[in-house]
Amino acid sequence: MRNLMLIAFLSLAGACASRPANTPTPSAPALPTHADLLLTNGRIITLDEARPEARALAIGGGVVIAVGNEAELAHFADEHTQVIDLHGALAVPGLIDSHAHLWGIGAMQRELDLRDTKSWEEIVERVAHAANSRPNGEWILGRGWHQEKWDHVPDDALEGWPVKAALDRVAPHNPVVLRHASGHAAIANSKALELAGAASLSTDPPGGRILRDAHGEPTGVLNEAAQALVDGEHEADPARRRALLREEALLAAQECLSKGLTSLVDAGSTLEQVSVLRELAQTGELPLRLWVMLGEPDEVLRGKLEAQRTIGAGGGFLTVRAIKRYMDGALGSRGAWMLAPYSDAPTTSGLPSTSPEALRQSAELARRAGFQLCVHAIGDRANREVLDTYERVLGPRAKEKDLRWRVEHAQHIDSMDIPRFGQLGVIASMQGIHCVSDGPWVPQRIGAERARSGAYVWRSLLDTGAVVCNGTDAPVEDVDPLPCFRASVTRKLPDGTSFYPEQRMSRLEALKSYTLWAAYAAFEEDVKGSLAPGKYGDVTVIDRDVLRIPEVELAGARVLMTIVGGKVAWKREGH
Ligand SMILES: [Zn+2]
Repeated sequence: MRNLMLIAFLSLAGACASRPANTPTPSAPALPTHADLLLTNGRIITLDEARPEARALAIGGGVVIAVGNEAELAHFADEHTQVIDLHGALAVPGLIDSHAHLWGIGAMQRELDLRDTKSWEEIVERVAHAANSRPNGEWILGRGWHQEKWDHVPDDALEGWPVKAALDRVAPHNPVVLRHASGHAAIANSKALELAGAASLSTDPPGGRILRDAHGEPTGVLNEAAQALVDGEHEADPARRRALLREEALLAAQECLSKGLTSLVDAGSTLEQVSVLRELAQTGELPLRLWVMLGEPDEVLRGKLEAQRTIGAGGGFLTVRAIKRYMDGALGSRGAWMLAPYSDAPTTSGLPSTSPEALRQSAELARRAGFQLCVHAIGDRANREVLDTYERVLGPRAKEKDLRWRVEHAQHIDSMDIPRFGQLGVIASMQGIHCVSDGPWVPQRIGAERARSGAYVWRSLLDTGAVVCNGTDAPVEDVDPLPCFRASVTRKLPDGTSFYPEQRMSRLEALKSYTLWAAYAAFEEDVKGSLAPGKYGDVTVIDRDVLRIPEVELAGARVLMTIVGGKVAWKREGH
């Protein structure tokens, strides 16, 4: 008992000593002596060096109060304590998805989910079904299609993309917008384009492209920024829009909890969306902890960042202290900005989606406000430009300044740039699952040598001192952390081969990329990431020991329970 208290004291003292400025302090300096929740009979991996493994865990007042065995923790419990027998299941610190899109996940719960479609005809059939069950004029939205997954190209395809004719045939009176899995393109039908207005369709908007047929007519496919032409049209009334955002946020949160996540990093919200989240956090309605990057342009954010800064609002449920920017597009659509031309399209090396000078200005804005900067970079040229910009703005002693700026995806990196992440203290925010989803076609796009030396190289990044956090980029991928964990440690493609297996993470590293390192990447390591006294009582319970079972059994692992702040937020039926 004295030892436990001593450990608790030392651990808190350690947290205080190492806490960077402007991060939250644990909610109570003295830990509660009464447990609201007691977990027993588990295999508990704490990721806390003071006590790495335990059988029991006591949570009180929303935070971990003690870790040990049943006898050691018995005195924290009384008749008001909820006791849960884990029956030997694995309990780990609450899992954190470090890069996903909350609003996309929420919308996906209401929109057509096209991720499993195998042909354009199948997609058209689903739209026809939706049009038959909805009144004229109601929007039909869908997302997740990818022509690389189709068994054949439609007859009327243009440059490999489908055209809107079939959508017009089945849904002439409903505006239809179907987003590509990459998020970098969409196809709209004539009704949706009509609402966008002929004038706005006459020329390509900056940073976007409207695909046209031989007669100059839009085919329906809108690339990059051109997607905004059919965005936001579906709900113009502000009150109604707020209600929809609220609904989407709560639907997304439930989806995340049901997959075992206790925290989610949202990779880009508007100020309006953040205000909805702030309201949900303040009223205690937010069941999932969120860490949000602001996606609005500099001119909107300038002068507003100080007021937007939010650290752990609503009892640790909402933090806003980062800005999101894009350096390039996606590899699938050859929008990723490469140092050399694509191997399967030698006339192009992709393109930047913002100028390095514009990125430098955003970086100055973030630096002055003390915000983290999180920049999407897929291609090796994009990664180099972002690192160059960080180095220029932060100076040669960037690492000591401990600003924890991030590169989102850090997907294809030139060998020369790999060690720079560790040297500059730049966090690589990667997605293990993208490696196995994209692996089958990556070598074709960029050639075997670039794929080997620079694609999804989390092993090389870790070995050169970088912090790597992990996530799914949902709804690009399912938000489920377990397939992503498996992908990170096996790099197994659907055909059973491994995508450059020398770049695998160990299972413990993969767990850290979803917990401790994810917390560090968000300045939250003193409240999240391990099950140490004083940290949030966030726990994910998994039926199998994914740290020890044979590799072939990893695919069968399931989350049993998600505990947030000591409350069971989700539980698998029958458990
Ligand atoms: Zn993303």
